[in-house]
Amino acid sequence: MKRKFLLIILSLILSINNYAQNLSNQSINLSSVDYFFLIKDKITSGEKINQNDWDLLFNTQGYKISATSSMRKNIVKEMMVTAYDKNLKMKRDSILNISVEENLKNTYLLLSQMTLSNYIDYSKNEKKLRQFRNKYDFSSISELSYKRLKSFLINPIDSLIIVPTINFLCYEPDAQSKSKGIVCDFNLFFKESQEERINFIAHETFHKYRRNFIDIKFINSNVVLQQIDKIQDEGIADLIDKKENLIESIGNKGIPESFVKKYLEAYKNTPQILNEFDSIVNSYLKKQINKEQLESKVSNFFLSGGHPNGYYMARLIEKAGLKDEMLTKMYSPVDFIKIYNKAAQEENGYIFSNDFITYIENLK
Ligand SMILES: [Zn+2]
Repeated sequence: MKRKFLLIILSLILSINNYAQNLSNQSINLSSVDYFFLIKDKITSGEKINQNDWDLLFNTQGYKISATSSMRKNIVKEMMVTAYDKNLKMKRDSILNISVEENLKNTYLLLSQMTLSNYIDYSKNEKKLRQFRNKYDFSSISELSYKRLKSFLINPIDSLIIVPTINFLCYEPDAQSKSKGIVCDFNLFFKESQEERINFIAHETFHKYRRNFIDIKFINSNVVLQQIDKIQDEGIADLIDKKENLIESIGNKGIPESFVKKYLEAYKNTPQILNEFDSIVNSYLKKQINKEQLESKVSNFFLSGGHPNGYYMARLIEKAGLKDEMLTKMYSPVDFIKIYNKAAQEENGYIFSNDFITYIENLK
C-alpha cells in the first residue's frame, strides 16, 4: 500500500518535471521580423539595400527555415522593394491588379501578389505591429497551446506534447509546420484572436505529438494508406482550430478568393470525392489499372494536403458520437476509415465499399 502511494507521488513529480522541461524547451523566434523592419525602414528612407543586408535577412531563423528556394527569396526581396520604395507605385498597382485567372496559372505571380498585399498591410498596421512585437506575451502562448492540446487528447502522454519553436517572419499570410519548427507570418498572427492563435499552435503541436505513435514504415509502404494518413492527420487537427462554419476560419485571411472557393467546394463535395477515391482503388483491385496507374491517380489526390476532406470526415465522426474512439486510434489510418464508415452509416455519409475496407485491412 505504502509503496503504491510512493509510486504515485514519484510519477506526479516526474510528470511535473516533464511539464516544466517542455515549457523551457519551447521558444519563440522573432529575429526575422526584427530584421524585416530594419530593411523596410532603409527602403522607405531611400537607402540602397546591398547583398549583405539580404543575406543577413535570409539568415534569420524564420526565413532560413521557409525561404530556402531562390524563388522565395526573390519574391521577398522584390516585393519588399516594390511595397516600400515610394517611386514604384505603378509597379505596385500592376501587380495588385493581376487577375485571378492569370494568378492561378502562375505560382510566382500568385505568391508575389499575396506577399505584396500583405507587405502593404504591414505598412498600414505598422505602429500597432511594433507595439505588439514589444508588448505581447509571446512566452505564454506555448503554455496555453500545450494546455489546449492536452485537453483535446484522450489519455495524453504529457511528456510527448512538445510545442515546436515558433519562428515568425514576414511573407504571405500563411503558417506552416516544418521539421525545424513552425513558421508563421507575423501580420497574420497579429490579426488573429487570442483563441485562434492558441488553437492554431495546438493544431501544429498535434501533428508533432501524433508522429510519436504512427507506424511510418507501414504508412509509406502503400500509396492509398499515405493519402488516408494525410486526411486523418489534418482532419483531426482541424477539429482543434477550425470553426464549424469553415468560411470563418479561412475567409478574410488574405488567402485569394479563388482558392477559398475551391477549398469550400472540396469540403462540400467530400462524399463524391471519397466515392472517386474508392472507385480508383476498386478499379485497381479489378485489375483495370496497374499499380503504377493507381499510384499516379491517388498520390496528392486530396486538395490542400487533405484539410477540407479530412475535416469533413472528422466532423462527421464527431457528429456520430465517435470522436473519442477516433482520438484513441489517431495513429491508425485503417481504423480511421473504419470509424468513419460507422459514422457515415449513422449520418448518411458516403460509405466506403467492403472491397476497399478489406484491401486496407489486409495491407498489414
Ligand atoms: Zn495541419
